[in-house]
Amino acid sequence: MAKRSNAPWPAGLWRKDLGDAVTDVDELLRLLDLDDGSLAATPSALRGFPLRVPRAFVDRMGCGDPADPLLRQVLPVAKEDESVSGFTEDPVGELLSSPVDFVLHKYQGRALMIVTGACAVHCRYCFRRHFPYAEAGTATPDWDGAVDRIASDPTISEVILSGGDPLAMTDSQLEVLGRKLAALPYLERLRIHTRLPIVLPRRVDGALTSWIGGLGLPTIVVVHANHANEIDDDVRRALAALAATGVTLLNQAVLLAGVNDSVDALSDLSESLFASGVLPYYLHMLDPVSGAAHFAVSDDEAKRLHAEVSALLPGYLVPRLVRELPGAPAKVGVDLWR
Ligand SMILES: *Cc1c(COP(=O)(O)O)cnc(C)c1O
Ligand code: SF4
Repeated sequence: MAKRSNAPWPAGLWRKDLGDAVTDVDELLRLLDLDDGSLAATPSALRGFPLRVPRAFVDRMGCGDPADPLLRQVLPVAKEDESVSGFTEDPVGELLSSPVDFVLHKYQGRALMIVTGACAVHCRYCFRRHFPYAEAGTATPDWDGAVDRIASDPTISEVILSGGDPLAMTDSQLEVLGRKLAALPYLERLRIHTRLPIVLPRRVDGALTSWIGGLGLPTIVVVHANHANEIDDDVRRALAALAATGVTLLNQAVLLAGVNDSVDALSDLSESLFASGVLPYYLHMLDPVSGAAHFAVSDDEAKRLHAEVSALLPGYLVPRLVRELPGAPAKVGVDLWR
């Protein structure tokens, strides 16, 4: 096996990568030699949830391939404007449960904190695409309310940083948050849900790895890759640098039509994750968010794919196929679906 660097990326380059993301549909199509007009649909959804994709991610797309599985995740298409019954703006009921200070305490022992609304990439299937982040006061983050609430509940032993993408925050914001979390008396673990190491690998720089190393808490980083093509050498370096800090690395993916709804795509993803030191954790069913119906895979097809992958791979390379059901005490595994 080739020797791989586990050195973090040089500090701060990621800020430029972030600012440099492609936000113009025509430019994206031009970069991929797809500017023949056939794909240039502009759904009205683009206004509320614009195109955003880092160039490092575009580089992993195939030129001239309108069906590229990475392109499909980020390219706005006319179908987003179709209204499909069962697909709503708030499929998991987060808006209705009106999170206090953006803490979601849905499951025993774990509190999920929405620490920022920002993401480096806009995934068209995202269930938070209609989330009212602007109202969250994300411009001047102050997590005192959230941290106080968590501190007052001794049953919470794990905080999950989510968003948006927590690693889209600046290092100084992370510093402040890390200090507040470290002061929580009952906290045993910290979890970070992030897509940045995949879509913007240079985010894993020396400042980030020393922040994680200095947290003083066992830390789990759950990255989000849906297809093996998302994992290239730069991503492998980022993941190795994270692993070198001692964190546990897991992946969550979403089962997406036209992206990873085949036995080959799912097993290649698991193998590629493992080769990068990451174990597959969850394969989520799509949350039925309006604008994303064209990504839906039926229950029967999902079960069939999961059974076939289970028959092919060792158990530790088979992610749990789960869905979110309002009111359930946990994410519901395929074996419990009715
Ligand atoms: C998914 C989720 C969690 C974490 O669940 P795990 O099964 O522990 O990964 C926690 N809180 C909320 C609100 C979630 O949606
Ligand atoms: S990175 Fe995660 S939160 Fe951000 S748009 Fe993609 S799926 Fe949604």
